[in-house]
Amino acid sequence: MLFKNITILDENFDIKENQFVAVKGDRISYIGPERPEVFFEQEFEGKGRLLMPAFYNAHAHTPMTLLRGYGGGLALNDWLTKKIFPFEAHLTANDVYYSMQQGIAEMLKFGIVSTTDMYMQGESILKAVLETGVKTNLGVGLVCFDPAKKLEDLSDYHNSKYLFENYHGRGDGRVLMDMSVHAEYTSFPGVVKDFVDYSKSIGTNMHVHLSETQKEHEECKQRHGKTPAQYFNDLGMFDCPTTAAHCVWLEEEDFDIFAEKGVTAATCPVSNLKLASGICDVKKLYEKGINVALATDGVSSNNNLNMIEEMKFFTLLQKVKHMDPTVITPKQAVEAATRGGAKAQGRIDCGVLKVGNKADLIVLDIDQPHLLPVHSLLDNIVYSADGSDVEMTICDGKLLYKNGEYYSLDIEKVIYETEKSRKRILSQL
Ligand SMILES: [Zn+2]
Repeated sequence: MLFKNITILDENFDIKENQFVAVKGDRISYIGPERPEVFFEQEFEGKGRLLMPAFYNAHAHTPMTLLRGYGGGLALNDWLTKKIFPFEAHLTANDVYYSMQQGIAEMLKFGIVSTTDMYMQGESILKAVLETGVKTNLGVGLVCFDPAKKLEDLSDYHNSKYLFENYHGRGDGRVLMDMSVHAEYTSFPGVVKDFVDYSKSIGTNMHVHLSETQKEHEECKQRHGKTPAQYFNDLGMFDCPTTAAHCVWLEEEDFDIFAEKGVTAATCPVSNLKLASGICDVKKLYEKGINVALATDGVSSNNNLNMIEEMKFFTLLQKVKHMDPTVITPKQAVEAATRGGAKAQGRIDCGVLKVGNKADLIVLDIDQPHLLPVHSLLDNIVYSADGSDVEMTICDGKLLYKNGEYYSLDIEKVIYETEKSRKRILSQL
């Protein structure tokens, strides 16, 4: 595969024009101003196009496509307990298989190749991921509502273990199993500690919701005398490479813990706005040297997987939070949506256009009225572009999406099946 005379976002996230980029197998094999003297089966003309790293969604519940728009306008607690949980109780393995495929179709349309996911029916999710050629870091999202229960009593634990033992590393490393604790308020210290110890023993990442709402944050302090970040740190969670989603209500000491332990903060600006959870202090995360990764959360609280839109909210929110228009550069936004997420997932050879790295790439059509003229292409990508400007999505060197066409899934069948599931579940409620 060869891209000719194309503008690229190089390994330093700077723009370079008129480049040739070659892909061999699943990796980038050449980047330079001259055409390599080799035959390529697929060649793409790069005039008016930008080639950049694909997006890594650092926190989502991708199969929640069936719940897009369901229960909109409610407060988080009501929304979860009155709408989301009762609907989810009816989801079958088949429902999740197709809703994941629809989620993957949306990911590819918006240039996402990999997601740090937390959801149930893991085997259906992984089947869809393996078949369609994308990547996932999947966690089950351990919950426990009975303080008398031990880790061994929890099906989420056995499920996580089963999926790790049977799927971790499958699809040439596209599938990675993370261990995941849903949140402080949906579990107890004993089971979390034992689960963390299990995660350490097998060397996996951890994924958790942390300080998403003020209620969660303050109630944790009342229960345990410490913030969620301090609570999980004391249970040893951050000895595993951890992705903490949301991080809206972090306190001074929490930032220091994140910095010291190398925790990634996966910020979900649109979801936090929609559920009125608050605004994560991303400026401070950067000041403390913490890895920042961008995420959509599930489409039931977003309501899409449009990472370009997410980048715009990400930067604009920090400007208004700090009343300073110089805060957060477009380059930081693009890095958080690409390299930041790849790093959080432990995919060190992903997220950057570099020879030898995995060929996870997207092509944007930048020759359009809303993207011209170009004073700063990075500004245009973050503030003027739209998710549908993504023309091509490539994962591990395979073209999976181009101009509305999917090469690894049957979109008509997927939409037919998800609509069937939606109607059946609504009739059961
Ligand atoms: Zn979430």
